[in-house]
Amino acid sequence: MKLQHFSIALFLGLSLGTAISVSESLIPSAAKNLMAVESALLSRPCQKALASAAVLQIASGPIRLPPSKPAPSLVTTLIFNQTSTPDHILILGFHDFGPNAKLNGMTYPEFDAYIKRAKDLGYQNLTSHKLLGFLYGKEPVKGKWIMFTFDDGYVGQFEAAKLLQGYGYSVLLGIVSNHIVAGGDSLTQAQIAEILAMGHELASHSSGHCALTLPTDDESAFLASPPGPEANCNPDVFALLNQGEIAFQLKDSKAVMEKTFRVKISAIIYPYGFYNDTVHKEALNSGYQLGFRFPNQVNRDIHSYTSAVDLPRLNVQRGSRI
Ligand SMILES: [Zn+2]
Repeated sequence: MKLQHFSIALFLGLSLGTAISVSESLIPSAAKNLMAVESALLSRPCQKALASAAVLQIASGPIRLPPSKPAPSLVTTLIFNQTSTPDHILILGFHDFGPNAKLNGMTYPEFDAYIKRAKDLGYQNLTSHKLLGFLYGKEPVKGKWIMFTFDDGYVGQFEAAKLLQGYGYSVLLGIVSNHIVAGGDSLTQAQIAEILAMGHELASHSSGHCALTLPTDDESAFLASPPGPEANCNPDVFALLNQGEIAFQLKDSKAVMEKTFRVKISAIIYPYGFYNDTVHKEALNSGYQLGFRFPNQVNRDIHSYTSAVDLPRLNVQRGSRI
């Protein structure tokens, strides 16, 4: 998963041109590192998949949305050069932070500089509420908007959330509900509550960080070796979860976190980004209005990304620039 996501991020980094760049000198060593750590990470309670991303532009056209919602006249369109579109949305995915950050995480000074750059470029803070307004409320996108998302609940994200707050930005924090009390290198319940009190938002990252479906052929092609059985919360390597198990991963995490933190959870960040029509259906059935995944094909039809529960993100890691 790590290698796959890295490769996608690399593609996006190259494709986005000035929008984001990944140091070329970083690529070979990072890829090797991802291959090397993959097996170790897969045995962890929460795998640290690299996020990915994209720039979204609102245009007119059809959109897949929950049947209970009125069909908006807007569609999110993946574009690879934001510089030509002054009005756009940038959704960023981060993982670990700090001097001991794992898996190409950012140091705090590097993250601080990254946030400052976003501020200097005039990006406004995009909350999930605002994003819902764009997607469901037919609100036109005017200006540049940036959404920060953190995956997996690394303890290093606590200080990173403070940094964002200092610049007037918020983060959508993707937490694995089974790991809330895990401690160790994971955020504790008290720390998550404190982050929310700063004004940040909470998303589900499933209940057990199980892959909700099989990786696609393209995703598999990026894997250095078959992932271990832990990756799917199933004794069989990447055996499919049945529909009930998928629903549980989505619904239980939402219910647990809503009860624990007394907030409404409207967003799901899919573990590993693995996603298909069943996951799509169950995400909507579970009450999610926003879903974030990883683009899994470099030349995928852009209309594959036009669902509010199928939103791509741009991976940001050590060496990335905005
Ligand atoms: Zn994850």
